[in-house]
Amino acid sequence: MKNRALENSIQKIKIEIEDALSRARRDPNDVTLVAVSKRFPEEVIEQAVVLGLRVFGENYVQEGVRKVKFFRERGYDLEWHLIGHLQKNKAKSAVEYFDWIETVDSIELVKRLERVADGLNKDIQCLVQVNISMDPGKSGLHPHEVRPFFKILRDEIQPKHVKIKGLMTIPLYSEDPDDSRKWYRELRELRDRLLDDFGDNFELCELSMGMSHDFKVAIEEGATFIRVGQALFGPRPT
Ligand SMILES: *Cc1c(COP(=O)(O)O)cnc(C)c1O
Repeated sequence: MKNRALENSIQKIKIEIEDALSRARRDPNDVTLVAVSKRFPEEVIEQAVVLGLRVFGENYVQEGVRKVKFFRERGYDLEWHLIGHLQKNKAKSAVEYFDWIETVDSIELVKRLERVADGLNKDIQCLVQVNISMDPGKSGLHPHEVRPFFKILRDEIQPKHVKIKGLMTIPLYSEDPDDSRKWYRELRELRDRLLDDFGDNFELCELSMGMSHDFKVAIEEGATFIRVGQALFGPRPT
């Protein structure tokens, strides 16, 4: 069954992405839309797949694993991002079923991920979550903790299967999307400084920032992954 509302919102968001990229004089293929499907059932995700989406974001490991299995069994080739906090005891399932873990926020978690990835003989692409606005209610490294974190990774841990590809953030929420701009700019500048010191060891090409209400601002500030839920699918089921 074709979902007209979803078709329209996909079309609208694609145009908004193109416009934001062009305003920023960025390459038209520089942004990946991560469709945040948390709490939406498999049927809705399947409608999105039929309409051409193939990259999805989930917050909870258990719910994500169920959905990944559903689509694997049906032969779909999709990409799954874990965008919610990851507890160490769920690291194995996360590595086994997800393609990206966007919420790496401790050395202990990297060690655990490396161990399970080695056991599964699989590489796992990861982003380091930064609490750029130092919101007490959010996880992620504080900005000043990020350099020491990378130094430990490079000098002591030297992960082989955990591929750190960039940074992710969820800034303080504000009604006005332009309030997010300074946080997104700070994340990009932080990434640029990291590249000066750690660019030989880590690629750091990805910046996951921007959600339904502020993804245009995030693209203008350099986002390569935007995580969009409600603007695509409508209000989330409770
Ligand atoms: C739910 C969620 C999103 C999507 O939020 P929307 O407002 O629905 O676009 C993006 N990122 C994270 C980390 C989320 O938890």
